[in-house]
Amino acid sequence: MMFGKVKTCHSAAADPRPAECNLVLLGVMGCGKSALTVKFLTKRFIGEYDPYLEDIYSSEEKVDQQPVTVRVMDTCDQEGPMNSERYLSWASAFLVVYSVDSMQSFAGCQPYLQTLALHNKTPIILLGNKLDMDRYRQVSRSEGERLASRFHATFFELSACQDFLSVQHVFYEVVRRVRRM
Ligand code: GDP
Ligand code: MG
Repeated sequence: MMFGKVKTCHSAAADPRPAECNLVLLGVMGCGKSALTVKFLTKRFIGEYDPYLEDIYSSEEKVDQQPVTVRVMDTCDQEGPMNSERYLSWASAFLVVYSVDSMQSFAGCQPYLQTLALHNKTPIILLGNKLDMDRYRQVSRSEGERLASRFHATFFELSACQDFLSVQHVFYEVVRRVRRM
């Protein structure tokens, strides 16, 4: 009888998963990019954050027992995806954010998706933020899901002001998606 060799696991040294993950948050002003960034990095919700601040933050994380340096670029575009060069080649993944209580933010995130679809094959995650504002919802969950599937994006709804673990879960899922590339 003949047996093929079954590959069961590989050693850590040969692990091809990248140890770095550069995440870029995109979306119109006010959708909560900075609040999500700060929540992920500090576990705290900061209600008022300089709306014109754009910066890159770095954090050492462990996702599924594997260390990874997660860098987060919290962008601030005042006119949509005009000068996207600064992040297009840098990113390991894009988190395109809108706010579920704002149809304007949902419309405003679509030019970003179109730009990304034209320029790269990096994973895209569509995030409906401000889930705590469900009472004032203007964008249904299924509208979000439909838009995500049009752009082959993973979809989540979340809230920057609710529990830290649900925000961390989303960022970790993004890292997992990058590792599967
Ligand atoms: P950015 O322009 O995309 O960086 O948006 P900010 O993070 O500065 O947030 C804009 C406003 O929305 C601020 O007043 C935040 O306090 C508020 N905000 C952000 N995330 C949430 C959220 O999940 N729920 C609620 N209720 N407000 C939020
Ligand atoms: Mg901001």
